[in-house]
Amino acid sequence: MKPLVAITGASSGIGAATAKLFSEKGYPLLLMARRLERMEEPCYPESICKKVDVRNVEEIRAAVNEAQEKFGPVDCMINNAGVGCLDDPWTQSLEEWERMVDINIKGVMNGIHVVLPGMVERKGGTIINISSLAGRKPFARHMAYCGTKFAVHGITETLRLEVAKFNVRAIVIAPASTETEIISHTSNEKYRNDWKENAGDLLDPLDVAASIAYAYEQPQRVCVREIVICPTTQPD
Ligand code: NDP
Repeated sequence: MKPLVAITGASSGIGAATAKLFSEKGYPLLLMARRLERMEEPCYPESICKKVDVRNVEEIRAAVNEAQEKFGPVDCMINNAGVGCLDDPWTQSLEEWERMVDINIKGVMNGIHVVLPGMVERKGGTIINISSLAGRKPFARHMAYCGTKFAVHGITETLRLEVAKFNVRAIVIAPASTETEIISHTSNEKYRNDWKENAGDLLDPLDVAASIAYAYEQPQRVCVREIVICPTTQPD
């Protein structure tokens, strides 16, 4: 049997596409998000779906423990859950800033915290964190979001430096705008509509899923450290 792959934010968008692709490839899956029914609906064989809020490390831990009992150790943890709320920094609420920090940064750290000791002990494993092009350069109306994604890059790069000696891979995937539900988190209606009208060509979530699978399926001795993936027609 192939090793266990765990995915956070598997109920829509990039996480759901990644679940579909990895299931087709025959991996047993642990799928985590708050909308349980959305993850259960495709009925993937060899999968466990758990209602998990990544802000709660104990919910991640309980889900991972249950899946590991059935399928063996998590070999790949894909920390994908995230939210993006776009607004001017002088009007955006503190609540939106905090929500992005709690889910996009602390949620990723919670996922790492649960699986890392086992990977270090086993001297193998892969952690894939989903950042963004907004984790490499600033965009207007993205102050807090860019901050969280720059953090995901920094955390992943520093994690890699620390765990290379244990044969554990830390990989960061940085997609440009992708056709998912992400814009629905933006409460500012004007910017929500602007994004829909002016985002230009978008990636398909399956394009991003394919890049995740490419990185993971390299031999363990090879670490594809970062993938930045954009539509070909996007100039910047
Ligand atoms: P979606 O909104 O389609 O999916 C987000 C996923 O995250 C959902 O499954 C949602 O599940 C989950 N999620 C959100 N909050 C929590 C939480 N507190 N606990 C557990 N799960 C949560 O967006 P995307 O697929 O686009 O987003 C996936 C990742 O890709 C994010 O990290 C995003 O920042 C990143 N990204 C997206 C880009 C884009 O343009 N779409 C571009 C670059 C990066 P539920 O609500 O059921 O809990």
